[in-house]
Amino acid sequence: PKPNGDPTAMLMKSYACQRRTPLKHHNSFLTEALEILSQNAEYNDNEGRSVAFRRAASVLKALPRRVRSMQDLRCLPCLGDHSQRVIKEILEDGSSREVESTRQSEQYQAMKALTGIFGVGVRTADRWFREGLRSPDDLIRTGQQLNREQQAGVQYYDDLQKPVTKAEADVISDIVEKAVHAVLPGAEIQLMGGFRRGKEVGHDVDFLITHPEEGKEEGLMPKITNWLKEQGLLLYQKTTRNSYLEKMDGPARASSNMDRFERCFSIFKLQKCAVSCKLSSTASAEDVSTACERERPDEHHSEASGWRAVRVDLVVSPYSQFAFATLGWTGSKLFERELRRWAGQEKHMSLSSHALYDSKQNLYLRAKTEEEIFAYLGLEFIPPSERNA
Ligand code: ATP
Ligand code: MN
Ligand code: MN
Repeated sequence: PKPNGDPTAMLMKSYACQRRTPLKHHNSFLTEALEILSQNAEYNDNEGRSVAFRRAASVLKALPRRVRSMQDLRCLPCLGDHSQRVIKEILEDGSSREVESTRQSEQYQAMKALTGIFGVGVRTADRWFREGLRSPDDLIRTGQQLNREQQAGVQYYDDLQKPVTKAEADVISDIVEKAVHAVLPGAEIQLMGGFRRGKEVGHDVDFLITHPEEGKEEGLMPKITNWLKEQGLLLYQKTTRNSYLEKMDGPARASSNMDRFERCFSIFKLQKCAVSCKLSSTASAEDVSTACERERPDEHHSEASGWRAVRVDLVVSPYSQFAFATLGWTGSKLFERELRRWAGQEKHMSLSSHALYDSKQNLYLRAKTEEEIFAYLGLEFIPPSERNA
């Protein structure tokens, strides 16, 4: 007995951070199409349009049922004329001409291939595209100037294109835990990003590291990467130092989604046998690595198939910022973006991965848990598995 007789429409809130968005939903046939248009808008440097399509897709992900007619969309927020046109065409004809021609377009495919290289953003890819380059092979063939990151990106391109499985992420977790505890006992490590949201595959593995005694975490990253290097586990790494200063970076910079933690963008060398060992046993990290060594020694050196490259992001946070860092590194990207927009537009607060600042009271709000942050923001707590906006 709702005013307009449609309970789902009445319940659909307009910010993604007000809604529960599960990983698996009922409308991928529509959301995939809208996300292609969003991606394409991003390639064309049209952020507003890109976000609009992404928000539209996200609303459909939160629906409890498959959309069957335009009637099902009545009263839903975030669906602009363009998105509605695309949805209508897919519902009526099975596909959208605009989406299909975008998908097939030379620009879309080249931009996808080029931005798919680790270290290559939209700007660089666009410049290369306008110079006639279409793929990583073209970069090699024409001897393009590449920075160290992009060189690694091209070198490990095929491996980095392959999705990382949860089993692989678990083996990497064991390794990271071992490395961190070897250099700083008592440190805490948390799996972040897509895997924390329950994804079964990802494009990388993300970790957040802290220590309950604030200060102990300072300068930790070089120690971790040195340990990993000594073990021959790193193919590439670039560490950036922590540059966060509350006075300078707090309220003023809240609109930027780049945080300033000590971080490391890396490429791990993952032994494939470690994954099969882990899958076929309940052994601990140590047992897995030694068992591998014993049973299949030659596989460790077989460049053809013994190992693969995996992208890993490591972030170190001071304990007092850990809740904010956890919230900020769990994603999804749209969920994060919507949280910050909600904070700014609805609450006059600014949220980052470091802090929450209340502009009305002129103070920082401290939090030990994600739950407290949602409460400050006047939002119902959304667990990580339902932040797949
Ligand atoms: P995937 O499975 O594709 O890796 P993901 O959700 O884990 O999906 P990531 O790109 O790994 O995507 O990002 C994970 C989280 O980390 C996101 O919420 C994002 O906002 C945050 N993040 C990524 N890069 C940065 C950065 N440079 N600064 C701040 N936060 C970042
Ligand atoms: Mn990730
Ligand atoms: Mn990442």
